[in-house]
Amino acid sequence: MALRRAKRHEHPTPPNGAAVELSGVRRQYGRGAGAVHALRGIDLVLPRGSFTAVMGPSGSGKSTFLQCAAGLDRPTAGSVRLGGTEIGGMSENRLTELRRSRLGFVFQAFNLLPSLTVEQNVLLPMRLAGQRPDRHRAAEVLTQVGLGDKGGRRPSELSGGQQQRVAIARALVTRPDVVFADEPTGALDTTTAAEVLGLLRGAVDSAPRFAGDAPMGATVVMVTHDPVAAAYADRVLFLADGAIADTLPRSSPERIADRMRALTAPAYAGAAA
Ligand code: ADP
Repeated sequence: MALRRAKRHEHPTPPNGAAVELSGVRRQYGRGAGAVHALRGIDLVLPRGSFTAVMGPSGSGKSTFLQCAAGLDRPTAGSVRLGGTEIGGMSENRLTELRRSRLGFVFQAFNLLPSLTVEQNVLLPMRLAGQRPDRHRAAEVLTQVGLGDKGGRRPSELSGGQQQRVAIARALVTRPDVVFADEPTGALDTTTAAEVLGLLRGAVDSAPRFAGDAPMGATVVMVTHDPVAAAYADRVLFLADGAIADTLPRSSPERIADRMRALTAPAYAGAAA
């Protein structure tokens, strides 16, 4: 167990390094005339302690981007570095281990295990990564998301917003290099969505409180359709046809929505300008 725990620190992210680095990432499905170019050469550096939103029309490559960046899919060409580690040549086993110990995931449908308690769900990534389940850490992240008193409940006893907060606690428990969120507010009402986004924002902004904590807050990459959600991010990337068509620094929902409209209906945007 001690050996396994030490492994986590084998390739620590350099203090000022990028959490995620993509260079020349291409992903092609099929070959020849019928080939689909889902990603056409993505170059991107996501700094540690940053919150990035990824937007774009349906079919623009958002899911493929997230999957390649998180080591769930392999690019056809180019390289992906996670916390300073090139994942290209890694075996499936090593990649799975890296995902479990150094990445966190939040999904639209929460994806909690119904038969486990809230605390057990939060501890699951630690168990899967071969780390000793740390109940103090579980209590800490549950408190961070406002559910310090719900550790013994089952997911079905909680509201949708509470379940997503458990999922965020689960994503943060291993102090991952990066949290990947795929439409995390897609199943939530506006008020609950704002709470969840506030928590993600807070995780990025939070200063270290304990010796083992990263020197900066979490790094979050979030795919979303919602300009209001994207307005919580430090930077918004707009994908179109497999390429980064535009980026915005932290902006209002209105500005982000305008940029989306320009992307999906250039003629209209030109006429309106
Ligand atoms: P988004 O998430 O923005 O909707 P995707 O990444 O899902 O976009 O898809 C990008 C493009 O790649 C689309 O044209 C889609 O049809 C295609 N694509 C995605 N997955 C596959 C696959 N497994 N096989 C073939 N084409 C795919």
